[in-house]
Amino acid sequence: MAINYSDPSDELVTRSTAQPEDASEGSLRPRLLNEYIGQEKAKDNLRIFIRAARDRGDSLDHVLLHGPPGLGKTTLAGVIANEMGVNLRITSGPTIEKPGDLAALLTNLQENDILFVDEIHRLNRTVEEVLYPAMEDFAIDIIIGKGPSANSIRLDLPRFTLIGATTRSGQLSAPLRDRFGINLRLELYTPEELRRIVMRSADILGVDIEASGADEIARRSRGTPRIANRLLRRVRDFAQVTADGVITRDVADRALSSLEVDHLGLDNLDRRMLRGIIEYYSGGPVGLEALAATINEEPVTLEDVYEPYLLQQGFLIRTRQGRCVTQKAYEHLGLEFRGQQQISL
Ligand code: ADP
Repeated sequence: MAINYSDPSDELVTRSTAQPEDASEGSLRPRLLNEYIGQEKAKDNLRIFIRAARDRGDSLDHVLLHGPPGLGKTTLAGVIANEMGVNLRITSGPTIEKPGDLAALLTNLQENDILFVDEIHRLNRTVEEVLYPAMEDFAIDIIIGKGPSANSIRLDLPRFTLIGATTRSGQLSAPLRDRFGINLRLELYTPEELRRIVMRSADILGVDIEASGADEIARRSRGTPRIANRLLRRVRDFAQVTADGVITRDVADRALSSLEVDHLGLDNLDRRMLRGIIEYYSGGPVGLEALAATINEEPVTLEDVYEPYLLQQGFLIRTRQGRCVTQKAYEHLGLEFRGQQQISL
C-alpha cells in the first residue's frame, strides 16, 4: 500500500538537505558571529570559548553541532573558523572511506586549523578509531608493513579543532561523543529570526522585498534558513514575472500557495504523511518503519527531515507505540476528528 510521490514540487519544502538549486548558498552564508542570526544560546557559549582560545593562542576545543538539516551547521563552522582566524577544511562522514583518507586529511592540517566533518554519525568504525587519538593526543598511529613484521609508529599532528555535524547525535558512539568538549544543539528558528534572514538574503541578492513579504516567507519556511532562502528565490521569480518585481505579502502568499506550500509551511509531502497516518492507521500509533514503507520514504528521512517541524508545530506526537497525528492535524487537513485511540505517552 505504498503511496507514490512523483511530483518534484513536493520536495520544495520538505527537502531541507542541500539540493542543486541551493548551489548559490555560499554567497548567503554569514561570515561572522554577529551576522549569524538566531541560535543565541549557542552563539553566547561560542563567543566565550572562541575568545578564551584566542587569548591563549590555542586551538578551540572540538565542537559537536547537532540539529536538523538546513539550520546552519556548516555555516556556523565557517563562522567559527573566521572568528578564530584559521583555515577550514570541509569533508563528510561517508566520503572518508578508509583510515588512510582521514590520515591524509589530518596530516595536511596546519596549527589550529578546523576540520569540519558533516554527517559525522556516518563515519565507519575503523575510521572512527583513528579519530580517537587524533582528537585526544593530536597523534595518529600508522601501521607499517604486514603480518608479524608490522610496526606501529606514532605520528604527531598539529593541534586542530574537529567540528562534527550530525542530524542524529543519538547515533554517535559514546567514545566519539565524549571526545567533544563543546556540544551545541541548534534549534528551529522563530518566524522573526527567519524574517531577518530573508531580509538579509534579499539585500544580498538585490531583491526588492517589503517587511510583510519577508514575514510571509518566514512563517512558511518551517523554521529552517535553507528553506527560507529557497522560497525567497522562488517568490522572487514569481514577483518578477507576475508582479512589478516587489515581494509584498500578497505576492508571497500567491507564489507560495501556487507552490502548494500552505500557510504553516507544510508541503504536499507533509500533508500526505499526516494523511497516510490518518487513512491507513486511523491516526496512529504507527511505527516509523511501517509508516516509511507506506509513504515510500526512508525512515531516517522521516525522522530527521519531516518530523522535527511537525512535532514542533504539534501535528504529530511520538509515543512508545509509534507516531500519532493530533486533532490539530485533522483540522489543518480539513478532516473530521473522531477522537484519539487509547495511547500511552
Ligand atoms: P546545515 O549545514 O545545518 O545543513 P547550512 O549551514 O548549509 O545548514 O545552512 C543553509 C543555508 O542557510 C546557508 O546557506 C545560509 O545562507 C543559511 N543560514 C543558516 N543559518 C543561518 C543564520 N543563522 N543566519 C543567516 N543565514 C543562515
